[in-house]
Amino acid sequence: MNPQDKTNPDIPTGIDLLREPLLNKSTAFTAEEQDELGITGLVPDGVDTEENQLSRVHLQLSQKSADIDRYVYLSSLQDNDETLYFKTLMSDPAHFMPLVYTPTVGEACQKFGHIMRRPRGLYISIKQKGRVAEILRNWPVDDVRFTVVTDGERILGLGDLGVNGMGIPIGKLALYTACAGVPPEVTLPITLDVGTNTDSLLNDPLYLGLRQPRVRGQEYDDFLEESVEAMGEVFPKCCIQFEDFANINAVPLLARYRDRVCCYNDDIQGTAAVAVAGISGALRMANSSWKDQTFLFLGAGSAGTGIANLITLAMIEDGVPEDEARKRCWMQDVNGLLVNSRDDIADFQKPFAHDHEPISDFVESIKAIKPTGIIGVSTVPKLFNQKVIEAMSEINEQPIIFPYSNPTSRSECTAEEAYKWSDGKAIFASGSPFPPVKYKDRTFVPGQGNNVYIFPALGMAIYATQAKRVTDKMFLCAAAAVAEQVTQENLDSGLIYPPQSSILVTSLHVAKKVAELIFDSDLAGVDRPDDIGAFIEAEAYKPDYRSYV
Ligand code: NAD
Repeated sequence: MNPQDKTNPDIPTGIDLLREPLLNKSTAFTAEEQDELGITGLVPDGVDTEENQLSRVHLQLSQKSADIDRYVYLSSLQDNDETLYFKTLMSDPAHFMPLVYTPTVGEACQKFGHIMRRPRGLYISIKQKGRVAEILRNWPVDDVRFTVVTDGERILGLGDLGVNGMGIPIGKLALYTACAGVPPEVTLPITLDVGTNTDSLLNDPLYLGLRQPRVRGQEYDDFLEESVEAMGEVFPKCCIQFEDFANINAVPLLARYRDRVCCYNDDIQGTAAVAVAGISGALRMANSSWKDQTFLFLGAGSAGTGIANLITLAMIEDGVPEDEARKRCWMQDVNGLLVNSRDDIADFQKPFAHDHEPISDFVESIKAIKPTGIIGVSTVPKLFNQKVIEAMSEINEQPIIFPYSNPTSRSECTAEEAYKWSDGKAIFASGSPFPPVKYKDRTFVPGQGNNVYIFPALGMAIYATQAKRVTDKMFLCAAAAVAEQVTQENLDSGLIYPPQSSILVTSLHVAKKVAELIFDSDLAGVDRPDDIGAFIEAEAYKPDYRSYV
């Protein structure tokens, strides 16, 4: 049964209906509905069309001078009339994404305790240990299917924001709906409050979380264990997306739960998939294949090793033996090339430490390893300097240059630098967006390796199929499905991702492909339909008001 109907066995009337964001139609109740539902006089007499409602939203947004004010306005709209909120977002997802998610959500999180109007989602503090299932049952929907969970420790590039990090699960879940049609009523943002180590928050009288340093070690692990177990008990069909945990917790959490429950980590696996999608697009552009590639990463943290792991899988699928595939991924961190003789290599980095003499200079590493692509995940701006790009262009006809560090101010190079220093040869994509670049007689359209190509679509496939587990192959499948939607026209302009303006169409195609894999892998919780594409379309949320009479 579609939970859209299940959540609404009896419709409230009067003022209660107007206060129910999933049911409210604001100024669009017909005169007949107003009478029937006891709201005559509680709304103005004039009945709005959909176009009028949207025009009013656009007008009010245009009157605000700062994006944070637009964020606050849109949050209020979401609290008031969720259908109109999603109608707005889905009218132009590429335009609204930066307002409800990055970059504006970063500022919103920093100011969360100050701009908060009405709480959304669930806040579960470690003080409530032993009662997590009871708190989950306080949520008014009993068939939650998708939750984004954070402990607020590594919010974007902003660090430890404690419960202020709640803006991220809220914003991210809005994108699951706006970009791929996951029904909003089955989503649940959760913040696990284990304290914060950020003094400015602890000293802020308006901070709303626990005023204590972060809990670590066994007590933290036990709390996470209870939370994951309780989610399975209270919402048995729910997928958990771990979000913005610090690396020390993100990697072990994923390892502990990925084979036990339906879960994934977008920072690690979604990033990897979007990078692999970009490389697949690059290979189409260069008319090359995985088995001819060697990658050198600048940065060997969770993003870098996550990408390297999925690249390895892509190469294996292309016929490269596993050992050989790992050797095609090299990494350099703050202490130089990852080589076996170093004694500071973490376990998760070990598969990508190889036998080689130590090198500390990145250009020297390029000359020694001869990569076909470099991927910047170092968080440090400008490290892909002119010498780096020139060295890559000397050894490659079309060097793959991916400066993935976010935000724009941290990017290892700009699009303009990459095209200019490579004399127009670079195949470029970045973590943050860059405008088109004119170089000589060409205009290049740089791609953005935005995780939004992957996670909403994957979420839609998981939701629709009631998948039992999330596997790496699903990410690989999603990446391939993104890449195959890049048109020749896109490639001709240098673009290796589909345009973000068509994200909903892209996502539904990706969701269909991932759903096929879920059925093929026997991981679905529902029967295989005859037409999986039509099934996904039918399950996708449409921001239409219901008719009450
Ligand atoms: P991290 O802190 O885990 O890793 C950073 C790595 O960079 C470490 O290995 C560190 O040693 C290395 N490093 C730092 N300074 C360096 C230097 N001067 N030279 C060489 N290496 C250096 O961070 P992470 O979570 O892996 O994220 C890395 C970056 O990737 C961030 O900027 C993040 O915004 C970005 N990212 C982008 C996307 C995306 O665009 N889709 C997704 C996730 C992460």
